[in-house]
Amino acid sequence: MFSLGLRKIILVALIAVIFIVANAWIVVNWLYDRGVIQWADGVCEKFLTGTAITVIAAMLFLSVTPRSSASRLVSRCGVCDTAILGKKNYCPDCGSKL
Ligand SMILES: [Zn+2]
Repeated sequence: MFSLGLRKIILVALIAVIFIVANAWIVVNWLYDRGVIQWADGVCEKFLTGTAITVIAAMLFLSVTPRSSASRLVSRCGVCDTAILGKKNYCPDCGSKL
């Protein structure tokens, strides 16, 4: 049921996944030997407390602009694809009705 091309792709993907997993382990071991993981663990315990993570999450949530108001501020002309600021009835570039 699988074509030859599809089987080749599956085999290559399988080899790639095994290769990536094997190298990921080498990278983790190397980082551990260098003390990067211990350092990151210490930083995590000192600075990334539950309160800090909550504040960061709240700031990210508040800084996201709502999509509906953003799409109302900037629209695109259907003919020439020019960005149009504000609410206009006609495209300033090509003059087509929006
Ligand atoms: Zn236009």
